[in-house]
Amino acid sequence: MREASHYSREEGGRVRCRLCHFNCLISDGKRGICTVRENRGGTLYTLVYGRICAEGVDPVEKKPLFHFMPGSLTYSIATRGCNFRCGFCQNYMISQLPSDIWPDEPELSPETVVGRAVASQCTSISYTYTEPSIFYEFALDTAKKAAEAGLKNIFVTNGYTGREALDEIAPFLDAANIDLKGFSESFYRDVVHAELGRVLETIIDYKNHGIWIELTTLLIPGMNDSEKELRGIASFMVKNLGADTPWHVTGFRPAYRFWRYDEKEETTLEKAREIGISEGLNYVYTGNIPGGYGEDTFCPGCGNVLIKREGFAMLACRVADGRCPGCGREIAGYRLCH
Ligand code: SF4
Repeated sequence: MREASHYSREEGGRVRCRLCHFNCLISDGKRGICTVRENRGGTLYTLVYGRICAEGVDPVEKKPLFHFMPGSLTYSIATRGCNFRCGFCQNYMISQLPSDIWPDEPELSPETVVGRAVASQCTSISYTYTEPSIFYEFALDTAKKAAEAGLKNIFVTNGYTGREALDEIAPFLDAANIDLKGFSESFYRDVVHAELGRVLETIIDYKNHGIWIELTTLLIPGMNDSEKELRGIASFMVKNLGADTPWHVTGFRPAYRFWRYDEKEETTLEKAREIGISEGLNYVYTGNIPGGYGEDTFCPGCGNVLIKREGFAMLACRVADGRCPGCGREIAGYRLCH
């Protein structure tokens, strides 16, 4: 157990955590919404420093990141807990499990994680599966060591990182896939239990820090997939992040509290892709339906297939020096086809 960062002591032995936009005011003996930060006698502690509950080697495409070192391997780590309460969480067994029944995981050091990443021939570390902002202290220490070792750092996040914390870790973050789970305040309030406006602000903050970002929206039938909402997301992206920001629309699979919901049909994902492109986005991908062309990267200039994928595997990459070999158009991203 380590003392937390980004908090202040308040009256009556309470503490104010500023790590994420919930800004929890926590009484002595209590925990914040994320359940992994606890006030003990007026000092805030993180309960998950180095307590890795999931780790493994993934293709970077699994994050998903399609324009950041495509074809490379990333070392993925997570600790337990989350600050969101999404009923459709695909990783609920580690993000939503009550903390009083957590298994006692051994504490790993940042050096150990970096060493495992290097030994696995990964070129980056991904802080993923649960919300990295709530294991911030360990992520920051690991990201610094990773950068020293020449590795890149990737956040897969729900976009609720507090501004002060993001300012501190941003110099060590190279890329992020950020969930934009819907585009209505009511969806965020009632289903995610957070504020849409805060997420939109944070996405722009990541962009302004120069971090390569790609956005993901999981389409839930009848909840966040109206044409109005999809157009809202796409136009927000074009206006605030630029037309070259990749958008991943992914298919819903029944899980956790939404286990009774129907699975999303491919045609609706295709409709979302068409909406994104018609709003001006250059790179829109459909996920969770391997085999379709919606996973391929097309040149926005001439329409040539530049990166061919199947599932999380990159089959071919034809970008040359960051440009389309057919028409010479610059293709957005980092280390494409190296
Ligand atoms: S990280 Fe967020 S949810 Fe957790 S205690 Fe801090 S402000 Fe609350």
